[in-house]
Amino acid sequence: MTGNLTKISSLVKVVATPPRERNLPMPNSVSGTMRAMVLHHSGEALRLEHWPIPQPAAGQLQLRIEACGVCRTDLHLLDGELPYPRWPIIPGHEIVGRVSAIGAGVTGFTVGERVGVPWLGWTCGQCRFCLSGRENLCESARFTGYQIYGGYADYTVADARYCFPLPCHADQSAAELAPLLCAGLIGYRALRLVSEAHKVGIYGFGAAAHIIAQVMRHAGQEFYAFTRPATQKRRTLPVFLALAGLAALTKRHQICWTRP
Ligand SMILES: [Zn+2]
Ligand SMILES: [Zn+2]
Repeated sequence: MTGNLTKISSLVKVVATPPRERNLPMPNSVSGTMRAMVLHHSGEALRLEHWPIPQPAAGQLQLRIEACGVCRTDLHLLDGELPYPRWPIIPGHEIVGRVSAIGAGVTGFTVGERVGVPWLGWTCGQCRFCLSGRENLCESARFTGYQIYGGYADYTVADARYCFPLPCHADQSAAELAPLLCAGLIGYRALRLVSEAHKVGIYGFGAAAHIIAQVMRHAGQEFYAFTRPATQKRRTLPVFLALAGLAALTKRHQICWTRP
């Protein structure tokens, strides 16, 4: 993850561009301009630009962003490995923010509440996957920071159906919560499928695994992570383990090296 952050930050350069046309501000929402880190095309540097603060349409929340994580998928976007992105795009899909305005028809949220926004940002609600509780497979899905403006900005708007309430405790920092919106979410989705298992094997030990390893340890499950003995991985693994509170692994929690 440190490598990813270094890669992103090394590509940042600061430029100013004129504001673009957007929806008119709605009553009680925040308007004006905001800072946004914008990717105009794969392989280019992120640019710091000043864009109009987006206004929530019906069914959306406007969010003041507190933190947004960096995911491997952001680097796939940067490297041109994802088809049909929206250009220019504000990347970032591990968003933690506070509700600053509520669009028409949205209930169940209050201004000031902390919410998170993940990669899956919109689904049709009508296809066979949406109707069978598998909306993550929606054939018309749109994704945050890819086809929908993401979290590397001061503000964003998001479909309220994909905004999840998060803890607001003073000791719970937004930066700590951000990785849960992708690595934590997809890891937990997989972990739920083996919630009854006593022993669990994980292929790889990246962002998702180092989060769910903590959940498994808390639940008393044995886990075994299988990863290739690459030099880089060997160097960074102790850092990952320390960050995950797993510095001292017992025989019940092991990292196993597989053949390259
Ligand atoms: Zn992600
Ligand atoms: Zn659908």
